[in-house]
Amino acid sequence: MNSKQNTTPRNLRNIGVIAHVDAGKTTTTERILFYSGESHRIGEVHDGTTQMDFDPQERARGITINSAATTVHWRRNGQDTQINLIDTPGHIDFNIEVRRSLRVLDGAVVVFDGVAGVEPQSETNWRLADQYHVPRIAFVNKLDRTGADFLRVVAMIEERLSAKVLPIQLPIGAESEFRGVVDLLGQRALVWARDDAREPAQVLPIPLELQAQAALWRDRLVERLSDYDEAVLTAYLEGVEPAEALLRAALRRATIAGAVVPALAGSAFKNRGVEPLLDAVVDYLPEPDEIADPEGIRGEGAFAALAFKLVSDDHGSLTFVRVYRGVLRRGDVVLDTATGKTERVSRLYEIHADKRVERESLQAGDIAAIVGLKDVLTGHTLADPAAPVVLETIETPEPVIHLAVEASERADLPQVSKALQALLREDPSLRLSQDADSGQMILSGMGELQLEVSLEKLRQRTGIALRTGRPQVAYRATLAREVELRHVHKKQSGGPGQFAEVLLRFAPLARGEGERFQSRITGGAIPREFIPAIEQGIRRAALSGGPEGWPVVDFEAVLLDGSFHERDSSSLAFELAAAHAFQEAMAQVGAELLEPVMAVEVVTPPESLGDVIGDLLRRRGQVHAQDPRGSSVVIQAEVPLARMFGYIGSLRALSSGRAQYSMRFDHYAVATRESVAA
Ligand code: GDP
Repeated sequence: MNSKQNTTPRNLRNIGVIAHVDAGKTTTTERILFYSGESHRIGEVHDGTTQMDFDPQERARGITINSAATTVHWRRNGQDTQINLIDTPGHIDFNIEVRRSLRVLDGAVVVFDGVAGVEPQSETNWRLADQYHVPRIAFVNKLDRTGADFLRVVAMIEERLSAKVLPIQLPIGAESEFRGVVDLLGQRALVWARDDAREPAQVLPIPLELQAQAALWRDRLVERLSDYDEAVLTAYLEGVEPAEALLRAALRRATIAGAVVPALAGSAFKNRGVEPLLDAVVDYLPEPDEIADPEGIRGEGAFAALAFKLVSDDHGSLTFVRVYRGVLRRGDVVLDTATGKTERVSRLYEIHADKRVERESLQAGDIAAIVGLKDVLTGHTLADPAAPVVLETIETPEPVIHLAVEASERADLPQVSKALQALLREDPSLRLSQDADSGQMILSGMGELQLEVSLEKLRQRTGIALRTGRPQVAYRATLAREVELRHVHKKQSGGPGQFAEVLLRFAPLARGEGERFQSRITGGAIPREFIPAIEQGIRRAALSGGPEGWPVVDFEAVLLDGSFHERDSSSLAFELAAAHAFQEAMAQVGAELLEPVMAVEVVTPPESLGDVIGDLLRRRGQVHAQDPRGSSVVIQAEVPLARMFGYIGSLRALSSGRAQYSMRFDHYAVATRESVAA
């Protein structure tokens, strides 16, 4: 709990729904929108459809699920609670998306498939949620399916994810007979007699045949809660039945502290178990004020918010923000502390399923969309200009891999280009450029799979499949050593001539230092107005000045001397002189090729540890750490990206499909010949 107890209670939940692809995230979200009254019909995902059908579905519902956040309201015990549902795409390639959602949400509902249980992506996302200390509720879905087993999935979550899971329900009836749930805290049964979502649950006594099992699981629940709560402990020791409210309060505290995960049972598709899930969101997930605030940036004070996603729709561009401190009013001017620019907020919106609701102001805890910001990007902090603050950003690393892409039909180009632009805005770790020589479009990103999935998305949205080249590592170059060089640019071909002379020193800098320019010209050897052109000439030449046109980075250029001509010197002449000097310098000293090195995390069952490490070493990886995590081992390593193509296939083969990995760009290092040849 933080010190800002004086802020008004918000009855606000900022939550995400997290799942492995196909576990039922979309179906569950649809039901949440329906039951909360935000949508009046339920959009169906056909039974047996795959990931392929997932996106067009999203598209059909437009902003609903594709948007960064959707606001719904839920009444619980006569009180209204606003729930902001933050989108968390399930795919590992969009890891950055999950991260940025986790960065701004306060709690999560993790949907598990009642048959498959813990799947790789539920595991990856669960671990990310651990990292971000996000309190969770588990929803075991699809209990109507053949082979579904609630308690088996609960045991699997405990075992595989090292979580303390507390079932607060038990299913009534199994598979096609699944009808409802026993509410262990309320000691009653909720039965949905028909699949019809419009029919509320009947509240009944616990069926006779489930009474013994329900008593057993309720005892376990009370016992587990007594570990976290004095009052429950006292009642437990004295053999007194603790009051329902007491148990709920204890469960709430333990969930928010991250000590336990309440588990609920249901079938979103058959419209069973969703209303209690919404109750549980209100009962056990935190208000914004209940989250620890180590940075001291939450609550009252000068306005501060984090922009976490940009979304374009037919109405224009929306910047989704999470407000951490203070109040923002329509018309306010905010400072983007990343760019130092101020911008005016023209409108504020809550996004409901298919409509926008305008807001006059936002306050700490709110998640909403701003219209009118032009230069703000994902991860930027918006602050009161009088009280600038920088919130921990959402990393968007530089792309390290690229792929040439091409439309087969010229006529498709405008549509493709528009769709690509939309992808870039949605995923800040994607970039688009044009190859200077071939004129081909180059799509760059963080990994092979990410690019594949993005192109698949483009295909689904436009019906156009792009032709692609082989994925390539994005190398960079730097100068092999220092060099001093004089260049005279001179042209005399009738009319006014061109003249510029420069003496420049180029020196490599340490990795990550960037490109620096300084002028030591004194006494007017070169007039001041030409100096910026010299810097520009060098920077332009560096952009594609390395071997095979790779950019040259991490160097310093010092302008030492030069000369000019009253009549024939111009900015252009100096720009060309400097660019040629740079090219000559590269030719003289040679380039050192720099390659991206990835930080790789592999989570493997211990049985495959030796093989996985052996394989990483063969890829010229350096293994830094091996630590147990639950029943798995986590390996931390650094591996050149050039040796990571196709890694997922090897990893699956080495671990019978059980190990998983994630990787992110870590740094550039001087490339060895073997690595470049690989
Ligand atoms: P997502 O990928 O996690 O968003 O999963 P979807 O919501 O798209 O669901 C994947 C598939 O499972 C779809 O065909 C759904 O109709 C189906 N599905 C979702 N929930 C249930 C459920 O409770 N029972 C059954 N039988 N099918 C479900």
